[in-house]
Amino acid sequence: MAYSQLIDLPATSAEAQAAVAELRAKLAPDVVSTEPLDLMARAHDASHFLLTPKAVVTARSAQDVAQAFAAARANGLPVTLRSGGTSLSGQAGGDGILIDVRQNFRRVDIVESGERVIAGPGATIRSVNARLHRFGRKLGPDPASEIACTVGGVVANNSSGMACGTEFNTYQTLESMVLVLPSGTVLDTGAPDANDQLRTKEPELFAGLIALRDRVRSNPHSVERIRHLFSMKNTMGYGINSFLDHNEPVKILEHLVIGSEGTLGFVAQATFRTVPVAPHIATGLFVFPRVTDATDALEALLASGAKTLELMDARSLQVVQPDVAADNPLSTLAIKDHTALLVELQEMSAEALAQAGEVMAKTVSTLPLDLPVEFTSDSRKRAELWHVRKGLYTTVAGA
Ligand SMILES: Cc1cc2nc3c(=O)[nH]c(=O)nc-3n(C[C@H](O)[C@H](O)[C@H](O)COP(=O)(O)OP(=O)(O)OC[C@H]3O[C@@H](n4cnc5c(N)ncnc54)[C@H](O)[C@@H]3O)c2cc1C
Repeated sequence: MAYSQLIDLPATSAEAQAAVAELRAKLAPDVVSTEPLDLMARAHDASHFLLTPKAVVTARSAQDVAQAFAAARANGLPVTLRSGGTSLSGQAGGDGILIDVRQNFRRVDIVESGERVIAGPGATIRSVNARLHRFGRKLGPDPASEIACTVGGVVANNSSGMACGTEFNTYQTLESMVLVLPSGTVLDTGAPDANDQLRTKEPELFAGLIALRDRVRSNPHSVERIRHLFSMKNTMGYGINSFLDHNEPVKILEHLVIGSEGTLGFVAQATFRTVPVAPHIATGLFVFPRVTDATDALEALLASGAKTLELMDARSLQVVQPDVAADNPLSTLAIKDHTALLVELQEMSAEALAQAGEVMAKTVSTLPLDLPVEFTSDSRKRAELWHVRKGLYTTVAGA
């Protein structure tokens, strides 16, 4: 029996067939797949949504992406860009044309001794950081999924991570991007005449951005509300703080794309300013009796110099418990309402780390902890502690 007869694929509409035929005519035959295995393999990201695409385009270039946009648009089909597929809310899946923008977009160029990096959207965060490591630099955004997630996904989700906060996320550290708009217009926002190019190539969009900017700015209530919402970690919806933070339409557009989840265009390349790697690190797992004990401790821990604070509730701890090493005290804890914080100190010198450790030890002595805390700089033990956090999703999925 053929594989396609074993699985239940949604019926293909006439529009979908027309779009696929158009794509096959314009792109190389092996770029467009309607094989059931390819469709099913990309029917979900790391979320719980199941959306089976009608066709998968494995784009070879920005031009391929522009062609796919045009064919989908002409036939009234939605398009979804998919890179690492580690998104947690279904935004990397779709039931129209799915464009794989990871496989053929992995180029990484280091600039100015690692002060800046130009990356293809399919490069994983880990691979970019591996190239930057010898310069003592790294990308600002540091999602826990760094082994699999990519530059394109990080830009489009405005992903943050364990230590980047609101200071070093993509919104703050991206210098420029090459953008393919749904119309097919390609724009390098780092070009000296980028704003003029946008005005000439997309006059309606240019005028619309100015009108929106001026409308937002002329309403004091909007200004106050946006400032408040974006003073904290906030990746919900479009980054409308762009209308307040930038004047030129091209810079507003570039910053709106950050966090737009692939709805405004394809990021074909991104240039980041990098941040220094703090080489002296110590990590500890703080286990509290209840979630409120953990959240009550946050202020004191931050004031004591914690650079990373990752919270795992009782359910998360129960899920990861079978997976932790036997010498980890968590392995034998009778988990009830317990909540853990993974706390990390990151400093530029051994002396600074020792000082931070002393301050932190005083704070630890005041906290209602159910397990003793061992702060460790040992890379094996640190990896084991991080495994509790980074392996959480895989453990949940496999449970
Ligand atoms: C175990 C685990 C830990 C995680 N930890 C964190 C964390 O600490 N912090 C955090 O913020 N997130 C975290 N995430 C969520 C997710 O990994 C990140 O948001 C990640 O950056 C998504 O990247 P991706 O390459 O997988 O993108 P995908 O999931 O493939 O796509 C993400 C979005 O970007 C769009 N997109 C992809 N490429 C492009 C492109 N080139 N141009 C335009 N749009 C594009 C897609 O359409 C989609 O809307 C975690 C996920 C998992 C599974």
